[in-house]
Amino acid sequence: MPAQEPPAPEPAVRALAQQMPKVLLHEHLDGGLREATLLELLDERGIAAPAADAAGMADWFDARAHAGSLEQYLRGFALTVAAMASPAALARVAFEAAEDARLDGCVLAEFRIAPLLFEPLGLDGDTAVDALLRGLARSALPSGLIVCAMRHHPPDEVRRSAELALRWLGRGVVAFDLAGPEAGWPATRHTALLRQLRDAGLPLTLHAGEADAAERVLEAVRLGARRIGHGVHLVDRLGAPDWATTLDELRAHDVHLEVCPSSNVHTGAARSLATHPIAALWRAGVSLSFHTDNRLMSRTCPSLEAAWLVEQAGLGWVDLAAMGEQAARHSFLPPDMCAAAAARVRAWSPPPG
Ligand SMILES: [Zn+2]
Repeated sequence: MPAQEPPAPEPAVRALAQQMPKVLLHEHLDGGLREATLLELLDERGIAAPAADAAGMADWFDARAHAGSLEQYLRGFALTVAAMASPAALARVAFEAAEDARLDGCVLAEFRIAPLLFEPLGLDGDTAVDALLRGLARSALPSGLIVCAMRHHPPDEVRRSAELALRWLGRGVVAFDLAGPEAGWPATRHTALLRQLRDAGLPLTLHAGEADAAERVLEAVRLGARRIGHGVHLVDRLGAPDWATTLDELRAHDVHLEVCPSSNVHTGAARSLATHPIAALWRAGVSLSFHTDNRLMSRTCPSLEAAWLVEQAGLGWVDLAAMGEQAARHSFLPPDMCAAAAARVRAWSPPPG
């Protein structure tokens, strides 16, 4: 079923959402290019673009986002990865992502990508990570890079992605993530590797409970994930007899959910923003915050997500600021940066309501 887009937020709400200091923990760099940049990069590489100008590109991604299908949604990534496959392009995309987040009111950000996606296009993982980190460092926004592995790719590639993350840990890389299609590709396929990473001190955030069941979230926690990408299917347990036990387990491990409301609607993980599980999970006491996932594919940005949560999901500014503080506390960046970001969120005075 095609996803329903809510109306544009009231300008005053959107302005407040932009002013509010925000902490961005879940954004894919290959899903967050500016349309104009994507067009230029495609042109440089001699790749045909699906539209002639930035507005046409926006429409093309809009149509994919509202097809209500993960397959349609994912088609855009083949295009962005091909466009980004040079060190200069990776550095530019990373820099622009950090600048866009800073100008949208973010005070701390973690960006992610699977560097080995560029291997078949002639770029090795270390070259890709080096270029991405150079790009991020050019922005004044404090940020870090999460190395993803695609969970449906061969185990050897997942292992090499993890080794890449370990090599760059402490030099800009802050964590490791399993991304890609979830159903049929449980994180338990990589139990031994994830245990080694945890023992080596590499923080883990795993996509779980986005397209698959609540059990996958608990599984990821037991595998050592300190944060969960999405986790929205936890709502299926809300009100069940074992909910208290589930919440206890999440709290015992200090788990934080990186929820991406618009993306969830676009991929079919949630029906609408108005019925999105984020409000129910928050009120049930789950630690979580809101993020963009893929700004280009989902036609969004952090302030738009915030405005929609206020207008559509029944959350208040106080809720969103509290989520921001929790996000800062759960960031994988150095503690002094996290504390500074949390202080900026705390210093903001949200309007009542
Ligand atoms: Zn994601």
